[in-house]
Amino acid sequence: MNIKFLTFIRKLKRKITLFLFNLRRRDNLRIGIFRGTPYEMGFSHGKIFKKQIKYTYNKHNKFYKFKNLNKHKISKLVNFIENKFPEFIEEMKGIADGSDMNKEDIIFLNLFPVINSIISRSKCTSVGFISNDKGPILGQNVDLGLEWRYYFIKKISPKNGYRSISGSWFGTIWQTVGMNEYGLCIGGSSVNVKKSHYDEIEDIILSNTVPLHFLSSLILSQCKNVEEAISLLNKYRFTLPFVAGESALLLDIEGKLAVIEKGGGQQTIKKAPLLYTTNIYIDSKMEKIMDIDSSESIKEITINAKERYRTLNNLFRDIPKQRYSLDLMKTILSNHNPKGAICRHYGIGNEIGNTTFSYIMVSQQRKFLVADGYPCCTKFKEIFLK
Ligand SMILES: [Zn+2]
Repeated sequence: MNIKFLTFIRKLKRKITLFLFNLRRRDNLRIGIFRGTPYEMGFSHGKIFKKQIKYTYNKHNKFYKFKNLNKHKISKLVNFIENKFPEFIEEMKGIADGSDMNKEDIIFLNLFPVINSIISRSKCTSVGFISNDKGPILGQNVDLGLEWRYYFIKKISPKNGYRSISGSWFGTIWQTVGMNEYGLCIGGSSVNVKKSHYDEIEDIILSNTVPLHFLSSLILSQCKNVEEAISLLNKYRFTLPFVAGESALLLDIEGKLAVIEKGGGQQTIKKAPLLYTTNIYIDSKMEKIMDIDSSESIKEITINAKERYRTLNNLFRDIPKQRYSLDLMKTILSNHNPKGAICRHYGIGNEIGNTTFSYIMVSQQRKFLVADGYPCCTKFKEIFLK
């Protein structure tokens, strides 16, 4: 086949995917505003998004039958959370009551990434720098794929915690990417950890582990800046026996930035005025525990994550600091490099890894921008936290 024809087919495929993607998500972005005690916030969440929570739960439950998996470990983990963070369980109870579901089902939904490996197959990119027009900004592409449509924007005013705005999933207490009232922002990318490594620490891990997706909620509700977030992260592990590690990107109003590579009971911290994460560890100590090739899909993720990292290295090598701006962040999140594209349109039939949402957080203005779709062709909506 000639190259022109192949290029035409590739372009056509992209156009069809984009059309279907936009059709499915048209006016689909939901914003939930909750306030009060954990139970009250959960109850409002459950009541407002009853339909979406049931849909999300049924989809996961049917697909993964996770209730049958690791019951003993899950109940140990639930006991730990109940003792250490009763407010999380209270919020989940509120979600269950508000949506007329069982508390156990909501807990299982919240622990879904702990049990299932879907997160380890995602391809997210996070970028932070100090712009000349808006100060410190953090941009994030969430690349879970076209089928993973359970996101909504959560704006909360907790009774005993800081106000925040974040991306979350229906029925969960998660705040996977977000910013709080002090302008502290968190994003990041998951990283696969070698199975041999996390098996080794399985026995001790349940003693001080917060599920990955709960930890960012904890940071946003309790920390004012990057240093406080690092202190909190130092206290807990967040890798679990059944899921990947993380490379978290933190940024605050003062222009402090840090990447915390965490997994397998270890962590490293890197601070710099420009930082980014794809789905790999960069630190040599952390690289050793990274799973790069245990399956075909892990191999593909590793290659792609390295390519995206290289794309960012190349882009930033050529861009002078004076040009760092909000527009530049949008351009980077929309990048379509032939190898290692940051805005991902690929994988028809195997949608995991397509860009689902894109966020930009402007710390000093407490402005949260969200593109409900590919950032290259979706208008960013602005939501203020102030
Ligand atoms: Zn794009």
